[in-house]
Amino acid sequence: MCGIVGFTGRENALPILIKGLHALEYRGYDSAGIAAITKEGELRVIKTRGRIEALEKKVLAAGDIDCTCGIGHTRWATHGEPSDANSHPHLGGDGKIAVVHNGIIENYLELREHLTARGYVFHSETDTETVAHLIADLHKNSTDGDIVRTVLRAIHRVRGSYALGVVSLDRPDEIIAARRDNPLVIGLGEGENMIASDITAIIRRTRKYIILDDNEVAVVRPDEVIVYNNFGERIEKEVRTVTWDLSAAEKGGYEHFMIKEIMEQPRAISDTIRPRLKDGEIVFEENGLTDDRMANAKHVHIIGCGSALHAGIVGQRVIESLCRVRCTARVASEFRYENPIIEPDDLCIVISQSGETADTLAAMRQAKAAGAFTVAIVNVVSSTIAREADGVLYTWAGPEISVATTKAYSAQLSALYLIAGRLAFARGLMDAEQHKAFCASLAALPDLVQKTLECKEQMQFLATRYNNRASVFFLGRGLDYAAAMEASLKLKEISYIHSEAYAAGELKHGTISLIEDGTLVVALATQHELYEKTVSNIREVTSRGAEVILIAGADFTGDESACRYVVRLPECPAILSASLSIVPLQLLAYYIAVERSCDVDKPRNLAKSVTVE
Ligand code: GLU
Repeated sequence: MCGIVGFTGRENALPILIKGLHALEYRGYDSAGIAAITKEGELRVIKTRGRIEALEKKVLAAGDIDCTCGIGHTRWATHGEPSDANSHPHLGGDGKIAVVHNGIIENYLELREHLTARGYVFHSETDTETVAHLIADLHKNSTDGDIVRTVLRAIHRVRGSYALGVVSLDRPDEIIAARRDNPLVIGLGEGENMIASDITAIIRRTRKYIILDDNEVAVVRPDEVIVYNNFGERIEKEVRTVTWDLSAAEKGGYEHFMIKEIMEQPRAISDTIRPRLKDGEIVFEENGLTDDRMANAKHVHIIGCGSALHAGIVGQRVIESLCRVRCTARVASEFRYENPIIEPDDLCIVISQSGETADTLAAMRQAKAAGAFTVAIVNVVSSTIAREADGVLYTWAGPEISVATTKAYSAQLSALYLIAGRLAFARGLMDAEQHKAFCASLAALPDLVQKTLECKEQMQFLATRYNNRASVFFLGRGLDYAAAMEASLKLKEISYIHSEAYAAGELKHGTISLIEDGTLVVALATQHELYEKTVSNIREVTSRGAEVILIAGADFTGDESACRYVVRLPECPAILSASLSIVPLQLLAYYIAVERSCDVDKPRNLAKSVTVE
């Protein structure tokens, strides 16, 4: 959520900062800004509510700005409305220090009072401005004049979460970076270095980077980067290399990232599954998820938010039915306050594309503290959740840029199938032959998803017919209900059409009153034993005027006559059907959003990586 970028080197920093901000756009934002230290010794701040294009215009209008060091920010407002004044960077004290911040300062009111009493004047409603003035105040009163010590002192007084970028006129070619519970990487170049919320913002200039850990502070200069721990001691950091290609983070000829990522799903699924299949067995070498651990778990908890939660709900059904162990999927933000019962032998699967989702991270820490063995299903390598979990099962989906997830979701499902398959084997519910057959089904999944993508034109056509509905209902039973939840979320998040997912049998207990002439109902039916029941539910809505699109399993034998359109899926084991049934519905959501001229990759109010609670 939101983005930070900083550059210090020999070239003009402004175009580099703007490019970096564009690369971070997908994380979601409502305002943007930059602070640059000019060769004339000025600290120039330019910021605006709205898109980066608006910022670019303001920068252009400001005339030539000669600077080789600066910081940039895209804001996703938490404290104070999106406005020019609330945009970052914020200046501290007499304007010699500028700060960009991602996260929330929890004790900002207390700090604001304290600083106001000391004469500081606030120009915004943000929590961030307190940090700017606090640093300025401590710096003014410090005896050593050392800005790093000052930043350390400041963060010791701050409660909450932050990634911070600070520049100061006293040190014109230096950026100070700090983090707690929010991601920050430092890109290492030749005669130049950068800071950024994630790698996408630095990869155009360097592939080498270090990850700043919680409570660390870094001094970034053109020719050196020094990292300090919480006690101000210098520490060595591992230098990492980005393994993926820049093209993976570009559109590659597609109109939007979302459609590119939908089409990339077979590869994402294959890259997640295949390395873990060895000689007809699911093998986890990397994550400490041993058979003993799996056999002893009394309860499997799954935690996630949004689509990751929906993947978890599919996972819950798959795990309970294959492994006969109690499994519950829960919303991360609720898990924390529900006082969940967690036993030391429990297994806790946490799912997050970014690996930085604040609620999921907090819930995972709670489960871990209660003694559960935590396994993270995460897409971003070395993200906070990946590093803090006891074990990690990476989804190798590659960078996902579209805010609405598709390929990462599909890769999460694949990871859950892997866990379910091994868990069933470890608990003696699958013998070696059955396990081998399950592995073969998993290995075939990428091709089946590829085949499912052939419905693309059909979904494009349906989008032209149904893009003007005020409300859409998705119905299904069992695994189809779980898939319906994700389908509904996909549609509403990018097309802004109200939609709901309902357990097909539940509709008549109230919601059916919302069905009227022309209401679009999308029904999913991939589970053989539920076909007849789902057909009855379809009839209930068509007889009240609904138009039904049916997403049907290959062997669907029910009566289709009440349905306007039927999309038939390739043949697939019923337990894995959620991986197929979501594909036409991702496409439908995508094409409807395109028809409605929505900003598909950056839906309003949404952020890719939700790092606030
Ligand atoms: N809490 C800060 C604000 O509202 C930072 C929000 C962000 O992470 O963008 O300005």
